[in-house]
Amino acid sequence: MVVSQVRANTVVALQPGRRLGLGSFALAGSTMLIVWVAVASLLGQGRLAAVLSAGRAELAAPLLAGLVVLTGICERIWPAERRGVLARGHVQDACFLVLHALVVIPLMTLLSVGSATLVGRYASWVELRPLQNWPAMVLVPVTIVAMDGANWLAHYADHRLGFLWRFHALHHSQEELSVLTSFRAHPLMHTTGFILASIPVVALMPARPIAPVLITVYVCLGTLQHANLRLTYGPLGRVLVSPAYHRLHHALEAECVNLGVVFTIWDVLAGFARFPGRGGTAGLTGLRGRPVPVEQDQAAPPIPLLLAEQLIAPFLVRRHAR
Ligand SMILES: [Zn+2]
Ligand SMILES: [Zn+2]
Repeated sequence: MVVSQVRANTVVALQPGRRLGLGSFALAGSTMLIVWVAVASLLGQGRLAAVLSAGRAELAAPLLAGLVVLTGICERIWPAERRGVLARGHVQDACFLVLHALVVIPLMTLLSVGSATLVGRYASWVELRPLQNWPAMVLVPVTIVAMDGANWLAHYADHRLGFLWRFHALHHSQEELSVLTSFRAHPLMHTTGFILASIPVVALMPARPIAPVLITVYVCLGTLQHANLRLTYGPLGRVLVSPAYHRLHHALEAECVNLGVVFTIWDVLAGFARFPGRGGTAGLTGLRGRPVPVEQDQAAPPIPLLLAEQLIAPFLVRRHAR
């Protein structure tokens, strides 16, 4: 099914004639269950505060903060699309950054622990014991690439399944892409990715953790891709998702292309890769018809109210839609 059809049929703004989306509530319930498993397990071990603190150190590392600031400066000097520093899209995405720091980072940490706990408890057969003797310099890169593949699969599901698209649509609704758009995501958009990514981690590295700095570097690469820059990474852009490559994924008329999170390999294998040309114009981004409430709409309510509408929208589905 063409992505735009999914968008048209399933995503809604707050209007009359909507029903509650059961799939959305099921996702919320599953997320709460995984978080509960993580909290219960960590409380039992007396490690809840330490793990939340370690998660904060990985996902809100000074390296990431520095990258966001530096990218923001570069966006002022070499923008793909020139606009004011306080453009509505930037301000709204800054609010999502605050939400990310306060809510999403602890949620991600607990989803990671809860998913790994559940996979380890009920699907321990996925553990590939013979691989445990491989040297770390082989096993760690293999695990990270496999995790990226799981994230690609989750992203593919976001675009193919209506109830997941309802959450992902908020991310795609941004018409003024910037590095801050990396944080414009519904908190419940992350659940599928963490469930799927925990499988290769449990399979390949059940007994040893991945070095936090590698997770931070992975997150940095995933954040940079939304920069408002014409950056293609040159030859490296054939392997790593660059801002120019990911911008094509956010294009207004985008079909299912460039789903890669950090590596392009999965798009290449699936036939979804569309590499950017040199010096091309920055195409428009966002969702045609604005099915999600957006700040660029002249009739948009004040920022806090709009934020609430954007977060509630996935739970309200147009009648007769999936
Ligand atoms: Zn997407
Ligand atoms: Zn994106």
